[in-house]
Amino acid sequence: MTKRISRREAITAGFAGAAAGALGACGNGAGGTETPVAAPTGSAPQTGSGVRAVVVGAGAFGGWTALWLRRAGAEVTLVDAWGAGNARASSGGESRLIRATYGTRRIYSEMVARGLQIWKEHEARWDDRLLFSIGMLRISSGVHEYAKSALPILRELGFRVEEFDGDELARRFPQINPEGLSYAVLERDAGYLLARRGCERVLEEFQAEGGAFRRAEAAPGAMDAGRMREIRLSDGSTVEADLFVFACGPWLAHLFPGFDPPLVQSTRQEVFYFGPPAGRADVTEEELPTWIEGPFYGIPATRFRGFKIADDRRGAAFDPTTGDRTPSAKGAREAREYMEHRFPGMRGAPLIEARVCQYEQSADGNLIVDTHPEADNVWIAGGGSGHGYKLGAALGEMLAGQALGEREKEPFFGLARFAGADAAGPSATYRRT
Ligand SMILES: Cc1cc2nc3c(=O)[nH]c(=O)nc-3n(C[C@H](O)[C@H](O)[C@H](O)COP(=O)(O)OP(=O)(O)OC[C@H]3O[C@@H](n4cnc5c(N)ncnc54)[C@H](O)[C@@H]3O)c2cc1C
Repeated sequence: MTKRISRREAITAGFAGAAAGALGACGNGAGGTETPVAAPTGSAPQTGSGVRAVVVGAGAFGGWTALWLRRAGAEVTLVDAWGAGNARASSGGESRLIRATYGTRRIYSEMVARGLQIWKEHEARWDDRLLFSIGMLRISSGVHEYAKSALPILRELGFRVEEFDGDELARRFPQINPEGLSYAVLERDAGYLLARRGCERVLEEFQAEGGAFRRAEAAPGAMDAGRMREIRLSDGSTVEADLFVFACGPWLAHLFPGFDPPLVQSTRQEVFYFGPPAGRADVTEEELPTWIEGPFYGIPATRFRGFKIADDRRGAAFDPTTGDRTPSAKGAREAREYMEHRFPGMRGAPLIEARVCQYEQSADGNLIVDTHPEADNVWIAGGGSGHGYKLGAALGEMLAGQALGEREKEPFFGLARFAGADAAGPSATYRRT
């Protein structure tokens, strides 16, 4: 009779010689000393116990994944070249919208519902505020089919949503110039998250729960016989593990160049913050929700920053390591023109801050959460494509469960979707380099 082996046994099988739980054996190169990770306490064995995991990238995706793996009992080393929520990372901005509208793509709305729960639980645990549920208002010149088609899903999932016309919009939000607007959807549970601070907080929690963090650049090790054994770090050391997660945001294509289409393309995006007039509440989060109109979206002036405006249209190709992050005069002018037309109370407001960030765009704009075609202990998580931050908390939980064999892979996020109808499968998107 064939012996059935569990997913956990399969994960650790390639490292039978490495004593399960012996993290001290991980760092084996020059300077490769590891911080031992305490085994989580509790009587029930956890699905991750005995599994050594490495997560590369401490952004929204990697940070949460590392934390969830750790909570499942794995011995986790999280590695980041510049730190959690650093200024180059896609998660490195001040704030990110969280909204549940995803047209009919229910999976995302469900992830947002779960994400909101996770953020609220952690806010309570940390006694800190990172989620600001000030609502999200989508405004348009006619019925917005994408927003409208999401309404039944959102209501079924328990989100509070309202749909109204231009007259109602003008009555409820007099600070918005209603010219040309005839349709609005207000998601009352939506709002914004503090992004880079959220990453830092998740890292702190990860370390407090026994996770090990290393600041170093990581390179994938060789993949032989369907497995990766180790990663190489910029300090010359190596880290061995049973399970690897690469959540490297816009750098994914650089780390794994063999995919066609590339795993992600990095595009230059600009964000502008304008200073509201002193004492004026109607353009602040006190009276205005976050909003989206066409390609423009924004967050009203908050206690942290000014009135934020960004353009969602994909910019030029951008190198996340060396790209010049000087904002353009053209971008600032276009943002101002839009803002002064739609939010007259902001006319003449000074530009007080601007940032250049990058989207890590997958070929179809959807997330990638899948194993590498050459190694089933190597997971790739990325492709946030301008909407990923809000999904990080739920993605991390999902990926940790999948990698430890508790959950099935989600085909919607799989690499096979890029292979085309007549291609042979996931490997059709990948050529060995
Ligand atoms: C301007 C802008 C606005 C956005 N607005 C929203 C929004 O409103 N709502 C929303 O939900 N999403 C939004 N997004 C998208 C969202 O921010 C990203 O999808 C998400 O933050 C991606 O997280 P990540 O963890 O995949 O990548 P990142 O945050 O980029 O993290 C990757 C990490 O990997 C590290 N790394 C890379 N390579 C290596 C290596 N070789 N070794 C070690 N470390 C490495 C990096 O240092 C980095 O910390 C926006 C993005 C931008 C740029």
